[in-house]
Amino acid sequence: MARKSVLENCDILVVGGGMAGTGATFEARHWGRDLKIICVEKANIDRSGAVAQGLYAINCYMGMQWGENQPEDHVRYARNDLMGLVREDLGYDMARHVDSAVHMFDEWGLPMMRNKETGRYLREGKWQIMIHGESYKPIVAEAAKKSADKIYNRIMITHLLMDETNENRVGGAVGFNMRTGDYHVFRAKTVIVAAGGASHIFKPRAVGEGMGRTWYAPWSNGSAYALPIAVGAKMTQMENRIVLCRFKDGYGPVGAYFLHLKTYTQNANGENYEKKWYEKTKELVGEYIDHHPTPTCLRNHAFIQEVMAGGGPIHMVTKEAFQDPHLETVGWENFLGMTVGQAVVWASQNIDPKYTNPELTTSEPYVMGSHATCSGAWVSGPEDISPPEYFWGYNRMMTVEGLFGAGDTVGGSAHKFSSGSFTEGRLAAKAAVKYIQEEKANDIKVSDKQCEDFKKIIFKPLDNYTVGRNEITGGTVSPSYILPIQGLQRLQKIMDEYVGGITYNYMTNENTLKKGLELLDWLQEDLENVGAEDYHQLMRAWELKHRTLTSQCVTEHTLFRQETRWPGYYYRGDYMKLDDENWHCLTLSRRDPKTGKFTMEKAPVYHIVDEKEKKEAS
Ligand SMILES: Cc1cc2nc3c(=O)[nH]c(=O)nc-3n(C[C@H](O)[C@H](O)[C@H](O)COP(=O)(O)OP(=O)(O)OC[C@H]3O[C@@H](n4cnc5c(N)ncnc54)[C@H](O)[C@@H]3O)c2cc1C
Repeated sequence: MARKSVLENCDILVVGGGMAGTGATFEARHWGRDLKIICVEKANIDRSGAVAQGLYAINCYMGMQWGENQPEDHVRYARNDLMGLVREDLGYDMARHVDSAVHMFDEWGLPMMRNKETGRYLREGKWQIMIHGESYKPIVAEAAKKSADKIYNRIMITHLLMDETNENRVGGAVGFNMRTGDYHVFRAKTVIVAAGGASHIFKPRAVGEGMGRTWYAPWSNGSAYALPIAVGAKMTQMENRIVLCRFKDGYGPVGAYFLHLKTYTQNANGENYEKKWYEKTKELVGEYIDHHPTPTCLRNHAFIQEVMAGGGPIHMVTKEAFQDPHLETVGWENFLGMTVGQAVVWASQNIDPKYTNPELTTSEPYVMGSHATCSGAWVSGPEDISPPEYFWGYNRMMTVEGLFGAGDTVGGSAHKFSSGSFTEGRLAAKAAVKYIQEEKANDIKVSDKQCEDFKKIIFKPLDNYTVGRNEITGGTVSPSYILPIQGLQRLQKIMDEYVGGITYNYMTNENTLKKGLELLDWLQEDLENVGAEDYHQLMRAWELKHRTLTSQCVTEHTLFRQETRWPGYYYRGDYMKLDDENWHCLTLSRRDPKTGKFTMEKAPVYHIVDEKEKKEAS
């Protein structure tokens, strides 16, 4: 079938119009007045990404104007929460700029809550400020729309284009419109990947009738990782997946409850179970258990151990706080502003938190670089603070020239959240403009042949289906294709059983990981034969392919790190202890685009903050 191709040439191409993508698009225009800037979004930019539904708090705000926190404090906080392993240059760089991004949100009309006594933003916790955030995403989308030459909605980017004169330089991206079926080619001088994290790579707790209900956005399908991995960009800390403690079945967040409502958890007998696991946890991780605040993974660890020991269910004690009518309102509004589903679950299960303490659960694992873990691309830091191993010319540029990242895409810099992701998008865009202005993107060659080859590859699942369905004599199962949903469930089962999912309480080891890699290889082979009956299913097919590539990378990293650095996120049963002597380092991978094989290496962790003071003191 003749298929329409839509061709664009631009200077800066932003892939994904979520928090980081809108920040990047906005900032690119500020520094690159004459540049052609395009943002491509898989959904509709007004309501896309993890913030689509709204948020109730901005989780990263320093408050430097009032002396509340300094960027160094945030680096210490993230370092502590990640058991020592973060890129401090990236974290510091984000933290020193994040307040200015939040001030723009305020100017643009985001309703911020104020402390009536001080007039400052109302704090939920040390880093969080409270907002009426239902309109958060449309507000940042408007800034991007005013800045871009063009926003393309409903286009999924499936591959990056590469320069044919320099095999390590990006040349744009291709994808398809999932409504019209048009093929889209974007030749670009730089590409900023801001395509969110990866949900649904591990089997979720909600299956069958509840399928699709997850904590992280179900449409976050790992494109942020698969696109760079496929062209040989180095990735970091991909083993550092996240498991969340959330309200059961609706995945309602617990932050406002702990921090603002001062609710607390207890086991079925009404005991503080965290204390019970102190000694045993200390045997695994040593003094890290004495850090304040207790790292998130270690709190998860106590939860998981308590449930395994028969102390569940674990409850959030809401009955006390909800006696205060103001706190009761805040508790409900918290969900109405960002997780309506939790309120619906409680209503359907007859749970009024004023009279019943709701149950909590630990989620299946997710992969992302903007929340409380560090998975993502290995990028250059800023020139003024990054040590040589962390710096190669342009802030947030990956190891592929001209390819930048922000938000969930970027590894090593956890706790950015919505505001930090937007900020990182701005930083990446500023550097991308500089890259173009310094003529690093001259004479890129992307031939028509390269684009035509991708066109065949992208639409192949439609052909697989058209041919394969004729072989079906009864029912829906074809001998020649697998459907995206079948492939997804197979992927989730492999990751769940072999790479540390919920079925085995997040446990894995060398043997299971190797088996998992073998099964993932076979799945990759079969994905050549995935069949798509329409354009929506074509999107599902490509989401699956991106999830699978991301999963391979996660599994390789998990195999490489021979320790249990973050008990509560996953366990290496064959190396149950944290091992600072051998593994106080970052892990890096690179997949050879020609062979598909991964190679692994270690990279040093530099404790930049406090090091200067320590040296001066000694
Ligand atoms: C349930 C939940 C609660 C949260 N609570 C808070 C909170 O209270 N406060 C806070 O500050 N932060 C919170 N966060 C974190 C915050 O939402 C993220 O840190 C932030 O959205 C990450 O920004 P991003 O741009 O990397 O990803 P996203 O904002 O998710 O954007 C990614 C975009 O890429 C698009 N995309 C994906 N693949 C492709 C493709 N192949 N082609 C084109 N487009 C693509 C997606 O559609 C999406 O629009 C929460 C997140 C979740 C999921």
